[in-house]
Amino acid sequence: MTVNRSWLLARRPEGPVALHDFAYREEAFVAPTLGEGEILVRAGLFSCAPTIRNWLNPPSRSYRGSIGIGQPIMGMAAVEIIESRHPAFAPGERVTGVAPWQDYAVLTPDRAAVPVVRIPDGVNLVDAMGIYSPNSLTAYFGLVDVGRAREGETVLVSGAAGSVGATVCQIAHIMGCRVVGIAGGAEKCAWLRDVCKVDAAIDYRLGDLGPRIAESCPCGVDLFFDNVGGATLQAAFDAMAAHGRIVVCGQISAYDSGTPAPGPRDMMKLVYGRIRMEGFVVGDFAERYGEAREAIRQWSESGELISRVDLRKGFDYLPSAFVDLFRGANKGTLLVDTGGLSLEARRNIDAE
Ligand code: NAP
Repeated sequence: MTVNRSWLLARRPEGPVALHDFAYREEAFVAPTLGEGEILVRAGLFSCAPTIRNWLNPPSRSYRGSIGIGQPIMGMAAVEIIESRHPAFAPGERVTGVAPWQDYAVLTPDRAAVPVVRIPDGVNLVDAMGIYSPNSLTAYFGLVDVGRAREGETVLVSGAAGSVGATVCQIAHIMGCRVVGIAGGAEKCAWLRDVCKVDAAIDYRLGDLGPRIAESCPCGVDLFFDNVGGATLQAAFDAMAAHGRIVVCGQISAYDSGTPAPGPRDMMKLVYGRIRMEGFVVGDFAERYGEAREAIRQWSESGELISRVDLRKGFDYLPSAFVDLFRGANKGTLLVDTGGLSLEARRNIDAE
């Protein structure tokens, strides 16, 4: 008997997300009859992304869809197509897309909010979910297009040692910016300095951010790339240089707090500083993903851009890996290999 394992939403988290918010289910898998445009997939590699936390909130507090109680958790995954009734996808192909946290699922690519994208033959599965993932594209478009980073500018990045943040730091360095990263803990700060080549790293756990941002950014911050929000956003806001830009990528400090992310105090500072503050969603740039992937490929091949992947093994560990995001216990892009792919499709994971 083939088994289909799932992780479901057991209850809505009250405050910090915890393991008891998830329920495990095992069912016999019977291949369904596909409708026109559907594909049957077997999943193998999931990405634990902070935004999933927003989908666990009730519909009134979720920005883009809300997972129902008893429904599978959804997230980015690398999957293998087993059967297809979609003209553009064939059995045996590997694709990335949003899929339920289960072994087998039916996807409808034409109706997917996040594009279902074929993984090219030569691309390592971990790279497809790491360095070429939507997080890297988020870093690229957030910095280049929304932030309009320019050579010589001071770029401050929060959540700097994470999947999006570390990519922002490295691309800003490549563009000739002066880069300052904010992260939690000595190890992450040392890694940012040694590997990501930031000019300064600030450990936010060591106390008041304001004086340390002022010390690391003596001419002010030209571009603040914010993944965190809250007190971090406020401290950066107070340090902005005239004509600065604040790129609002995410607000992870609020996701698990039970209250919406607050804005900065004293918006007149935006007026007199001629400062632009802009949020964005990476999907806005879908038509230009090719451009970003090509730039990332070149930087990766030249050794200028690296991706740190925190690869966990085992379907059982999906919820605990996800919870780790909110404790800062991940080191880079957090992926979970559920062991679900065929030997042929998983060859790249095993090579890692
Ligand atoms: P990540 O940074 O790899 O992992 C999350 C990290 O956030 C943790 O390791 C932790 O690092 C930090 N963190 C957690 N709770 C925190 C808190 N209360 N205060 C300060 N830092 C905290 O995650 P990611 O996937 O790259 O996502 C980063 C941000 O980008 C998120 O806000 C996400 O929603 C956003 N995002 C936006 C888009 C878009 O299209 N706009 C797309 C993708 C992701 P420390 O150890 O340093 O605390």
